[in-house]
Amino acid sequence: MNQELKTLIFLGPQGSGKGTQARLLAERFGYQTYSTGEILRNISKEDSSLGLQVKQTIDAGHLVQPELISEVVLETLCSVPTDEKVIIDGYPRSLAQYELMKQNFPKVGRGRYITVYFDITEDETMQRLQSRAEKEGRADDNEQAIKMRLAHYREETLPMIELMKKESNYIHIDGMPGIEEIHQDVVNKLGLL
Ligand code: AMP
Repeated sequence: MNQELKTLIFLGPQGSGKGTQARLLAERFGYQTYSTGEILRNISKEDSSLGLQVKQTIDAGHLVQPELISEVVLETLCSVPTDEKVIIDGYPRSLAQYELMKQNFPKVGRGRYITVYFDITEDETMQRLQSRAEKEGRADDNEQAIKMRLAHYREETLPMIELMKKESNYIHIDGMPGIEEIHQDVVNKLGLL
């Protein structure tokens, strides 16, 4: 298998369906998925000052510090065999994180990767997050935290994506159609079949 296909970086606004697409790809092609949101939510449940700090950051819709999340991702990947196929869902999210990622990933055998960007409109993001809030009741799915996350996305993540578009092997996926159609598009563009 092409070395780059062993590490997929899934990016896109929250609610873009990247988590669902990661799960489908994992089930079909044997990828292991690491979602930074999930990892951080687990840390936030710990009864420690770090746990509390992460919980407050997530609940307010802010990004945790780039050094912290980069360390968490590096530590996670350290224990993953280099020939394992992985999807990183939700990292990096800012230029600072991307710089740290470029320093760290080669150290854990992940210097080559493919960036997969799930693109949906801001209106659609807002609608999807509001309907998820009704179903799942996540503490950070209130209107103010959602607005804050979208602002971070616009101001910090989008400029980084522009750079990754130029610097990495980059695939653009339209996140507006149905789940199955998007899955086919991902499989085709990655050339997985
Ligand atoms: P998510 O599950 O992707 O919606 O992430 C939930 C929350 O975890 C985000 O709103 C951030 O507070 C935090 N988070 C997840 N990934 C990152 C990251 N790469 N950088 C900083 N904060 C993150």
